Amino acid sequence: MAHAAAHDAAYRAQLESLFARSAFYRRKLKAAGFPSAAAAGGLERLAGLPFTEKDELRASQAAHPPLGDYAAVGIRQAARIYSTSGTSGVPLYIPLTKSDVEDWRTIGRDTYSKNGLEAGERVVTTYGAGPFVAGASLAAFEAIGAVHIPVGVGNTERLLTAVQRLEPEALACTPSYAMHVAEVAAAKGVKLASIKRIIVGGEPGGGEDSFRKKLEDLFQARIFEIMGIGDIAASLWGECPEQAGMHFSGEGIIHVELIDPDSGLSKELSDGETGELVYTHLRREAAPLLRFRSRDHVRVWTSKCACGRGALRVRCIGRTDDMLIVRGVNVFPSAVREVVARFQPRVTGAIQIRPRARGVKQEPPLPVVIEGEAGVGEEVAKAIRAALLFTPEIRVVAPRTLPRSDYKSKLVAYPEGER
Ligand SMILES: [Zn+2]
Repeated sequence: MAHAAAHDAAYRAQLESLFARSAFYRRKLKAAGFPSAAAAGGLERLAGLPFTEKDELRASQAAHPPLGDYAAVGIRQAARIYSTSGTSGVPLYIPLTKSDVEDWRTIGRDTYSKNGLEAGERVVTTYGAGPFVAGASLAAFEAIGAVHIPVGVGNTERLLTAVQRLEPEALACTPSYAMHVAEVAAAKGVKLASIKRIIVGGEPGGGEDSFRKKLEDLFQARIFEIMGIGDIAASLWGECPEQAGMHFSGEGIIHVELIDPDSGLSKELSDGETGELVYTHLRREAAPLLRFRSRDHVRVWTSKCACGRGALRVRCIGRTDDMLIVRGVNVFPSAVREVVARFQPRVTGAIQIRPRARGVKQEPPLPVVIEGEAGVGEEVAKAIRAALLFTPEIRVVAPRTLPRSDYKSKLVAYPEGER
């Protein structure tokens, strides 16, 4: 357990640093009954400390611009400042020191190596090198020694030309954009034969079986999913060639917990367990976060992967933000879509959940509208009951009736708009 001891020592040092340099955490921890780092103890007592919510970070940056009083360094000590798009139009700034940038590079290198990316391999990417943390991946490609071919966001023509002329072995982009590229290439009769590896991330979808199979068939290539979280680290999880979930790449740099999103209680990290990921930085300098709630709901595996790695694996189930509770059962709209998609081509795969009332808690049967052929409804309802343990009320409508959407859009339509 040398690892555990090292992690505990790093965590205690991180707490000392928070008490010394972060007014936000000093205040928060004192209010929770921990007047000092010593009083908060080590990692074994982490579950007794309060969570950090994204809204608190926004409020802190609004009250103490520009970096918020949770930041543990002044702006002049930052080496890089990313920002998120934010929902209210105000970006949330994510500062990194030189050492933090180096840690992100290490994490990204490990993640893309797990995907199988090698020195000399050509990888074409659509990542923006703009304000968003995805830009941090660029250093990871360099660290591996890959031949990186950036073509920018949304320029499909340039991407197809690059594929034809430079014959990259790998493509890295969002899952919905990969699907778009495959469709455009098919329509234009462009061959994508050089691409053997598609690395997808930035939005959910890459882990959904039916979506993945469709994309793999279209490209005749294998899909490898990655996942990061801006406030914690870019490219934090990456899938290996066994395609058995994404491996954790932040060992020794970030600590992971699993919680029940409703009660906030810790759950054991064990094979098959599900819950929300909660992160704690172990050695972040600029903006260390303690028990940060990711809102990412996952299934975890702790047993050794067939690839030989022991690192924790996850597969995303959905966002806790979108979750509904139907008579005590957690229902993720993306999971409903996945079950419905199994019935392709009798259904289009498009769905919309239409709760009768606003709010997270719903009474069964939960209305779900799907597109497809008449008569498929009862079979879909049966499959949903079996797989997701709640009773839906399926209404089948003609193809292309529901609003067309990408993977980031809402799959739930409430009777009076937002919940
Ligand atoms: Zn593996």
